[in-house]
Amino acid sequence: MPELPPATLRLGLDHAALANNWRALDRLSGPAEAGAAVKANAYGLGVGKVLPTLMKAGARKFFVAHWSEVPDVIVHANPGSVSVLHGPMNAADASFARLTGVKPVLNSPQQVRRWLESGGGPCDLMIDTGINRLGIPMQDIADPALQKLDVDVLMSHLASADEDSDLNAVQLGRFKDAIQTIPAKHLSMANSAGIALGPDYAFDLTRPGLSLYGGVPRPELADLIVQVAKPEAVILQRRQLKPGDSVGYNAVFTATSEMAIGVVSLGYADGFLRCWTGKGALAYGGASLPLLGKVSMDMVVIDLSAAQHLHEGDWVEAPYDLLKSSETSGLSQYELLTGLGQRFHR
Ligand SMILES: *Cc1c(COP(=O)(O)O)cnc(C)c1O
Repeated sequence: MPELPPATLRLGLDHAALANNWRALDRLSGPAEAGAAVKANAYGLGVGKVLPTLMKAGARKFFVAHWSEVPDVIVHANPGSVSVLHGPMNAADASFARLTGVKPVLNSPQQVRRWLESGGGPCDLMIDTGINRLGIPMQDIADPALQKLDVDVLMSHLASADEDSDLNAVQLGRFKDAIQTIPAKHLSMANSAGIALGPDYAFDLTRPGLSLYGGVPRPELADLIVQVAKPEAVILQRRQLKPGDSVGYNAVFTATSEMAIGVVSLGYADGFLRCWTGKGALAYGGASLPLLGKVSMDMVVIDLSAAQHLHEGDWVEAPYDLLKSSETSGLSQYELLTGLGQRFHR
């Protein structure tokens, strides 16, 4: 196989911004230590690139969802500092945890029994205080099996930390009940948005994900968090439209005057989904290049009026100020990041 020619899609990762965001969240966590959620390939940005930067900034505790995500993390991080959120579904998972030295997060009485039967050892424990997703239900917190565990981090997860919801305080109250009964070395409740809820929610360890990567789930974080992900794509072709010419599938845009357009190497297969159709713009420096017509699988078309000099081979920027882009596209900030496809050169 000859060397591959240069890619026409690249994902810039601003390492200084990433380190800045972790430090800002660590500071905002007060006396608590900030860990880092690096599941889903570090929210799509590339765990192999993200982890060394987070570790240099000072992060020491890492969270993934799947067992399959462990190998890429323990290349860089001490296995004992890695928690697997989905927990052990079977004996193979428990055995993998023991052999690698990573911690399972136990999420149900069944997972607790499975871990103890496999020999036990250091683990984390998730309490479900109201999200009704994963975790030991509140009615089971007095289960005597929990007393036999060697719990490193006792945690819970907030359902509505990004809103001023009464559920936040309800969950906090329940978590305070649970920590009275279950012995653990460390306590953890806050994700990115939870950190902004203040010191009551911080306990010993916070678990930011989204905001490390530039997401702003609450207004309190807006001035602290900076953009990390910078997707860019090449203009494959420049064309000249005449009045009446339409663009792309189903001809949903028709030119009313002579105009220059660019056909860009970015499509829904790359995570730039069809909800961008007719909304928003790509950019070149300060120039805004509005999207025209439907987003295709591998291409999108832009109006080059604001940057007439652009031609084939020039790079343009996708709009990835996550808060603004979420508002424009209707996608969540999480989806914008984790949807970034495999064809991006990272
Ligand atoms: C994903 C996840 C986090 C990180 O949440 P963000 O909202 O991305 O900060 C924290 N804790 C748990 C249990 C998670 O699943």
